[in-house]
Amino acid sequence: MPRRRFFIPQDRIRGGMAVLTPDQAHHLRDVLRLRAGDEVELFDGEGAGYSGTIRFDAGEICVGALRKQEVAPAPATPIALAAALIKLDRFEWMLQKSAELGVDRILPLETHFSNTHIAAARLDARLERWQRIVREASKQCRSVTVPRVHAPEQFDALLADPEYSGWARFLLHGKAAGRLAADHFPDRPVLLCVGPEGGWDDSEAAAAGQAGFRIVSLGTRVLRAETACLAAVAVFRFLLEK
Ligand code: SAH
Repeated sequence: MPRRRFFIPQDRIRGGMAVLTPDQAHHLRDVLRLRAGDEVELFDGEGAGYSGTIRFDAGEICVGALRKQEVAPAPATPIALAAALIKLDRFEWMLQKSAELGVDRILPLETHFSNTHIAAARLDARLERWQRIVREASKQCRSVTVPRVHAPEQFDALLADPEYSGWARFLLHGKAAGRLAADHFPDRPVLLCVGPEGGWDDSEAAAAGQAGFRIVSLGTRVLRAETACLAAVAVFRFLLEK
């Protein structure tokens, strides 16, 4: 059986020892029924992995005798997926799958036709849930990095965000004149934007074009938003992987 893996932020690792959170301790002891002396693996979401041995220490569950593992380097070219908010169950499924496929950050978008809105009062809890979903997905597919899920933002704000001005930026659009083609794969970070079920408003597509985005189609089929997200991430991750 493969060893159990736990996510551990760097600040819980001190002096060759990792202290698990109370939730993890409960899961490890009461659900997985692991015992002192059992071997587990840890990953910090930033590219480091460890193996170590469970210890009980003053009421806390720790993993000691940590050994750093040789891990695969993070993929060379970052991919950010800016996805319009859609029905939350579909959106969360997309988060899980895009983390498996190797996206680096997810930017939920409010667009002209997106009709899901996260109320400010619920935002923190929602972000925590989303971050947990991508963390679990990363763990499941043995990735050592975890994508970061950002707070929802307006599409206009993304167009103007200087952080992405040097990135290769794409607007996925079924009505685009041109299809995504092999010469579109750049050697720099990639930002992919996918619209909601209602698609992009013409003014949004025009503004993206003016901001320097390439407007591309994935073919003649009208894909559901979450399918378009995964198709785009899969194609880029596959072709950008060194
Ligand atoms: N009725 C909408 C369909 C939206 S599908 C329309 O007419 O545009 C939801 C999103 O998925 C789209 O905004 C687009 O970003 C993406 N998408 C779906 N099919 C696509 C395709 N064939 N090529 C590129 N993007 C696509």
